[in-house]
Amino acid sequence: MSGVGKGVTSSSIALCLQARGLNVTAMKIDPYINVDAGTMNPTEHGECFVLKDGLETDQDMGNYERFLNVDLPAINYMTTGSVYLSVIEKERNLGYKGRNVEVVPDIPLEVIRRIKLAGAQAMADVVLVEVGGTVGEYQGVLFLEAVRMMKSETPDDVGVVMVSYLPVPGSIGEMKTKPTQTAVRSLNSAGVFADMIVARSPIGVDEKRKDKIAKFCNVLPENVISAPDVDSIYDIPLNFEKDEISLRLCKILNMRHKRSADLSAWKRFAKRSKNGTDTVKIAVVGKYFNSGDFLLSDVYLSVLESIKYSAYHLGLTPDISYLSAQSFEDKKQLQSLKKYDGILVPGGFGTSGIDGKLNVIEYARKQQIPYFGICYGMQLMVLEYARNVLKMRNSSTEEIDPTAKDLVIGVMDEQKKLLKDKAMGGTMRLGQYPATLKKGSLAHKAYKSDLIFERHRHRYEVNPQYIDKLTEGGLHFTGKSPDGTLMEIAELSKHDHPFFLAVQFHPELQARPLDPHPLFTAFVKASYESK
Ligand code: GLN
Repeated sequence: MSGVGKGVTSSSIALCLQARGLNVTAMKIDPYINVDAGTMNPTEHGECFVLKDGLETDQDMGNYERFLNVDLPAINYMTTGSVYLSVIEKERNLGYKGRNVEVVPDIPLEVIRRIKLAGAQAMADVVLVEVGGTVGEYQGVLFLEAVRMMKSETPDDVGVVMVSYLPVPGSIGEMKTKPTQTAVRSLNSAGVFADMIVARSPIGVDEKRKDKIAKFCNVLPENVISAPDVDSIYDIPLNFEKDEISLRLCKILNMRHKRSADLSAWKRFAKRSKNGTDTVKIAVVGKYFNSGDFLLSDVYLSVLESIKYSAYHLGLTPDISYLSAQSFEDKKQLQSLKKYDGILVPGGFGTSGIDGKLNVIEYARKQQIPYFGICYGMQLMVLEYARNVLKMRNSSTEEIDPTAKDLVIGVMDEQKKLLKDKAMGGTMRLGQYPATLKKGSLAHKAYKSDLIFERHRHRYEVNPQYIDKLTEGGLHFTGKSPDGTLMEIAELSKHDHPFFLAVQFHPELQARPLDPHPLFTAFVKASYESK
């Protein structure tokens, strides 16, 4: 079932296997027709996570990268749309040598080909594949068929883990196993049999219920893993190992593990996350927080995680507030920002919320509150500076107002034709690119390096025609593409502001629990010091 934490469960399982000295890679299958996650509305689908090689994927890929502390390649992510596209392209290229191409087996075979290729590319001992959606859903059938085919071909090499939810209805206060029994039947009707059940529930599963689940669901009692709700997702792998999940999985997969599970580094991190000596208050001002009556923080998941990792690393407890940009269109509301130690404006698209964000950035600049802008957060920081400091009142970004006199943010040359042709899917400047840093800058001090590699996702850039003017006006471009044409980092000198820095790329995509991102650490540190 979606929403029960399948992504974090998968990431945790992968980490536990890695802790046994195995080389683990992780894949996500999303059952929708969209070829990638780049064209989906973030309020509906959550964050779009960009891989190193530029594929726009689901946020679970970010969880895998963060838990495993590895970069994953594009082959590790697939959707129904991308699988069909490959099969149809292959057919058009006579790749099937004139035979009938059928939904079954050709679609599952393409799924299996990708899984094997991902394993081979990573030289993995184990490939963990998360099948998105819920058992019994029409759109997941072909993926389950792929699982069935793989398992019947090499039964000793494939293990099936079902993540199931066991409710504890408030009225009776007892854990109910029936929905899991029904789900198992539904899985069985697809010809797939679970080897392990991860029992997600508000509370832990006791031995009695483990036995019951085992008996009714056809798994060994020791292969029922208790997965109660936890305060911190970082505790999940540690909880799983209490039930020796990695050992159980090695048995299921007939694999020799290389050592006993060593989660010591992770344990230290999980402990640090609870032991902050002081608090740092950060406001994240975005526009995708509200969905009906619900507040969604998933849209900026990587940003929030990145703040946390850096705060933990500094021995601090992050207190993060999600503020809706629209509420700052009224300048009177800006006073409420006083209580924050630092303000972050993450990436975004389109017109809504822009005026609020510009007001917030102006406030942070004038009030000397540390500011960190990411992607749109950099473009708007440049725009705010042009309008309010350089008095270019008619300046704008081409994304909002293409007719403005001074387009300080313009569409990148290579994007012009794409926009005209409405070729929007997977066509932004995506993935990892290098940038060179200016010595002595805040950025250089943070990275301690002249050359960096960061992931991107944008169509617009600082307009090269205005760079001299902005620089003369005091806004310094301290990170640039190696050929010097594309502005990657902008900052004010320490003399003018304690920390006013923004980046065109997405540093949050490379922050890891065991390896926090240097810019986030610099921002959180500056925020704390300005308290
Ligand atoms: N909308 C801006 C662009 O396309 C910024 C994108 C982002 O923040 N990811 O360039």
